[in-house]
Amino acid sequence: MSGNRLDGKALAARCTQSLAKEVEDLGREGIFPSLAVIQVGEDPASTVYVGNKEKACQKAGIRSQIHRLPADTSMDALLERIEALNRDDAVHGILVQLPLPAGLDAQRVILAIDPAKDVDGFHPVNVGALWSGLAGEDALLPCTPAGMMAMLEDAGVDVAGRHCVVVGRSNIVGKPMAALLLAAHATVSICHSRTRDLASITRQGEVVVAAAGVPRLLGAEHIQPGATVLDVGIHRLPDGSLCGDVDTQAVEGKAQWISPVPGGVGPMTIAMLLRNCVRAARRQAGNKAKGSSL
Ligand code: NDP
Repeated sequence: MSGNRLDGKALAARCTQSLAKEVEDLGREGIFPSLAVIQVGEDPASTVYVGNKEKACQKAGIRSQIHRLPADTSMDALLERIEALNRDDAVHGILVQLPLPAGLDAQRVILAIDPAKDVDGFHPVNVGALWSGLAGEDALLPCTPAGMMAMLEDAGVDVAGRHCVVVGRSNIVGKPMAALLLAAHATVSICHSRTRDLASITRQGEVVVAAAGVPRLLGAEHIQPGATVLDVGIHRLPDGSLCGDVDTQAVEGKAQWISPVPGGVGPMTIAMLLRNCVRAARRQAGNKAKGSSL
């Protein structure tokens, strides 16, 4: 069984193209999807991520505004900025780039964002909707897991009834991925740093999601022949090259599908952010027309 690469870059380009068309149609109705991104401090990786989001918005015709705040911004000042964006009808999506500088509380920031504008899908209202099965077709889903579900669908991998193993239990990736797989009728195992004999569990996975943040944690001994492997990790090695949480070379001869790093899950994360922006804009416009503030 030889590994086929799940080309997230190509799928993201297709998604962006179709969103651009949707944005054009919305424009004709007088709706102009708009994203506000707040970056506090000058963490170089965050600056790159924010720049990529700005460029992606341009490709889809989504308006974007970047709020760059100094690293010594107070919690109150940050919350005030979020509140102003919550009130601004011309802004449909708000994203605060994480991690925040020391001293700023990410949890309070997530709670401060209007759930209707929470394009990261991190607010407990959106998280609760996902876990309780109340998230509808136009839900604001966490971008990285939503991107992986789109990749599975595009590759024709139906997870219903299959054993899917998620390595990592973060609120951003592991847990919401498990929720989405469960909603798609998979049997789901979640592994984490206290899991004993990781390989014995991942080997049971017909789909394995690697989101541990550990370079090349999963090798051939962790994967069953014919599995689908989604690699979320992204690490810069001392020689400047990038790798994921999976030893791609070792696994690709065994897996049926594997997502590469770079060019796999990463581009889909951004495409799903754009999708959330468009969904948020459509929903807010619809609610305004109905006279509802939700
Ligand atoms: P976190 O550090 O928040 O979570 C890592 C999770 O992996 C934790 O649940 C941790 O367990 C678990 N873990 C750590 N070491 C092991 C181990 N040896 N065996 C099993 N489980 C382990 O990371 P994130 O979820 O935010 O991100 C994961 C990776 O994905 C990172 O490399 C990040 O850079 C990347 N990423 C990539 C994105 C993309 O778009 N491509 C988007 C988001 C993240 P415990 O809970 O016990 O500590």
